[in-house]
Amino acid sequence: MTVWPLRSLAEIENIGERMYAFAEGLYPLCRSITGDGVRQTLAAVSERLPLKVHEVATGTEVFDWTVPNEWNIRDAWIRNESGEKIVDFRVSNLHVLNYSVPVKAEMTLDELKPHLISIPEQPDLIPYRTSYYRETWGFCLSHRQLESLPDGRYEVFIDSTLAPGHLTYGEHVLPGETDDEVLITAHICHPSLANDNLSGIALLTHLAEALAEIPHRYTYRFLLIPGTIGSITWLARNEDRVGRIRHGLVLSCLGDGGGPTYKASRRGDAAVDRAARHVLSAGFPEPRLEAFSPYGYDERQFCSPAFNLPVGLLERSKYGEFPEYHTSADNLDFISAGHLEESFGMVARILDVLENDRRCTSLNPKCEPQLGKRGLYQAIGGDKDAARKQMAMLWALNLSDGQHSVLDMAERASIPFGIMSDTCAILEESGLVKSAGE
Ligand code: ZN
Repeated sequence: MTVWPLRSLAEIENIGERMYAFAEGLYPLCRSITGDGVRQTLAAVSERLPLKVHEVATGTEVFDWTVPNEWNIRDAWIRNESGEKIVDFRVSNLHVLNYSVPVKAEMTLDELKPHLISIPEQPDLIPYRTSYYRETWGFCLSHRQLESLPDGRYEVFIDSTLAPGHLTYGEHVLPGETDDEVLITAHICHPSLANDNLSGIALLTHLAEALAEIPHRYTYRFLLIPGTIGSITWLARNEDRVGRIRHGLVLSCLGDGGGPTYKASRRGDAAVDRAARHVLSAGFPEPRLEAFSPYGYDERQFCSPAFNLPVGLLERSKYGEFPEYHTSADNLDFISAGHLEESFGMVARILDVLENDRRCTSLNPKCEPQLGKRGLYQAIGGDKDAARKQMAMLWALNLSDGQHSVLDMAERASIPFGIMSDTCAILEESGLVKSAGE
């Protein structure tokens, strides 16, 4: 059976630096669930991929939801009595409550305060907050600054529009040998936040770009969608297509040094769940392997009961649990090229398992075959991994009973899937086993 070399993606040179630079370029844009920040982000991705950009009109019914008004923002500030801008959208786009309606007014501090949001427990950070489905306006600022505001009159200005328009998302389909699909998604709705959002966008984009260069079995469907409403919209428009999805991963928070964390699909025992658990356990001392829960990112929609797709969530630190989460501390200093590269390797290895897991049957099952006369000791080679590769060969021969897959063997032998898969390929070339797809 053909072996598809997806593991080789992990070897791409400077991939971490390239993903970091891409995230850096997108960092200043003010994204939201709709609007020009999303379009500009997708335009940057389109320079690397033949991305199809979909525009879905405001008011479109998508299951129990409705595509909201489109939000765009140009400027926002608060000025004190001396006319100084004390809070300025151009300094940080987190300063504006995302989806704020326009406002131009003068008011006292007491009137302003209900519209100011801070985090008392993290007094130096600007929080990131949204108000998608309740029309209001607000500013986010550090608690230290909020506490220091003197009484007096303030001028507030938000130059935004919230009006009928479109929800925008990007989709890229990379055909493979079969029509069976692997779904890879990332959300695109956060403004200047690095780990929670840009890391996923950067990884997905570079993965799609790299996959186009090597042969693969599955068709890959990449989605760059606003969180929640984007996946609901995609599912509502593609209900007839979801049956082709064999495996799926939601990518988020992949640029920091924590974790890694894998949250299983609702099924819990899908191939992607097993693949991710194996790759994370083989590559990291303390991976967090969690069961499904109906809280998190877009896996919530893909794993809703009518769809129940085999889609898991891959992260480094878990959303909501790292102190930088949804604050101005989730910036470009919080992520690194090295961590992005490590995460990219993780995804490559998970896909390698999905593409290459197969059942093997020994053609010489009566006692151990004689490896020496077939040159198989030389095939293993004399490198530092030789002992482990020899064990892999013995396990592979023993478990090639047509019942065990290569992943079963790797787990049973505590040997990384890649080594086990290469070993099975050597045995197949030498005519000792034959393999068939899962
Ligand atoms: Zn978030």
